Amino acid sequence: MNLPFEADHALQQDDLAHHLHPFTDHRQLAADGGPRIITHGQGVWLWDTQGRRLLDGMAGLWCVNVGYGRPELSEVARRQMDRLPFYNTFFQTSHEPVIELSKKLAGLLPEGLEHIFYANSGSEANDTAIRLVRHYWQAVGQPQRSVIVSRKHAYHGSTIAGASLGGMSSMHDIPGIPIPDVVHAEAPYAWESGKGMEEERFADAAARSVEEAILAAGPERVGAFIGEPIMGAGGVIVPPAGYWQRVQAICRRYDILLICDEVVCGFGRTGNWFGAQTFDIRPDIMTMAKGLSSGYQPISAVAVGERVVAPLLERPGRLPHGFTYSGHPVAAAVALENLNIIEREGLVEHVRETVAPALAGGLGALADHPLVGEVRTLGAMAALELSPESIQPGGNLPLGTVATRVRNLCFERGLATRAVREGLVFAPPLVITTDEIDTLVDILTGCLDAVAAQLREPAHG
Ligand SMILES: *Cc1c(COP(=O)(O)O)cnc(C)c1O
Repeated sequence: MNLPFEADHALQQDDLAHHLHPFTDHRQLAADGGPRIITHGQGVWLWDTQGRRLLDGMAGLWCVNVGYGRPELSEVARRQMDRLPFYNTFFQTSHEPVIELSKKLAGLLPEGLEHIFYANSGSEANDTAIRLVRHYWQAVGQPQRSVIVSRKHAYHGSTIAGASLGGMSSMHDIPGIPIPDVVHAEAPYAWESGKGMEEERFADAAARSVEEAILAAGPERVGAFIGEPIMGAGGVIVPPAGYWQRVQAICRRYDILLICDEVVCGFGRTGNWFGAQTFDIRPDIMTMAKGLSSGYQPISAVAVGERVVAPLLERPGRLPHGFTYSGHPVAAAVALENLNIIEREGLVEHVRETVAPALAGGLGALADHPLVGEVRTLGAMAALELSPESIQPGGNLPLGTVATRVRNLCFERGLATRAVREGLVFAPPLVITTDEIDTLVDILTGCLDAVAAQLREPAHG
């Protein structure tokens, strides 16, 4: 697939001329000569127009769980497009793919989640969750319960409501965000705020922050708490043992609905079908996207538990909410086949029995690296916190400088990863083998060594 230099250059120029990228500094992109252009993928591997091969340590964006190049999925999409490319599900109509997908999901979801609403992205799923929560409280005569408690470092999407739920301060840098009635508790992020604290005490402190946010808002005004079982984009923040049990107890104490955002954790990532199972959480609402179709089609889902669904099923009237493409037949057919692949190939077990221990072993060994402060892994997710100050005491580089340098070098050497603050995160396709994990760890180790060596040379500080 090597494109001649001129053709590749022309594509890059066209991209710079006409394409606005998400979360991108366009001046920097232009200064760097334009984007790397990805052409195709197979398994955990990607290729670009220069013929360079990349090990995808991020499964695209946390989503390509079954890996690239699955002919089963393109076949299902083609067949569904030929048969019925679109019909809506608004006006007392339905179609086979969305019915079959709903039945399949209900069978996989934790007990008590039997009804599913569809959208096209994680952001829309979380917007939907807010509307469901407020509709529920209105229906049961407590319309004042409009406040949603979220957490710092959370990522819940990029619509105005999604960005408001999110806890990244950089995403609140636009006027009007966060929207009213969204409040943020502290994250259970020991590297940031629990260093040297015993795990149990930190779990207490982090859960207490949720309770304090509820009390500050007034418990009678709080409708729901939303949380990712493990925070993904915020930096693979794995909560301390006992945290979720405490948060769940707090929600029960104040009769507050619990929303699990499973957009990253769902569909095998944590070694169970859902993160809620890994942490023994019983959510009232669960939002899903990404791994639901392994990114082969844009589709998201909101599972609605018995309590919240009851007014919708039993009372007259309707929820005035939906998207043209809610339950899109092609996306639904692809998602269903994707779930069948995960099941048929035992990918959830593969994560639990093979990927998790191999990542924990391979990356865990880097905890002793001079540039590494902490390694966290769970299932097929991992984070490294870098500690450049251990090499350059008082070095004072702006936060993220060193992680970005390591990330860029990883890309040059054939490994796609992502920098978060002064750290790196990993979430490879679930199909990754132990040999491929060894390759990932080897490339990463070489890059950490190289950047550590640069930092030791004062000239390169
Ligand atoms: C990616 C993500 C979202 C948003 O999904 P989009 O499809 O990008 O809108 C929401 N929640 C979590 C946890 C995510 O990782």
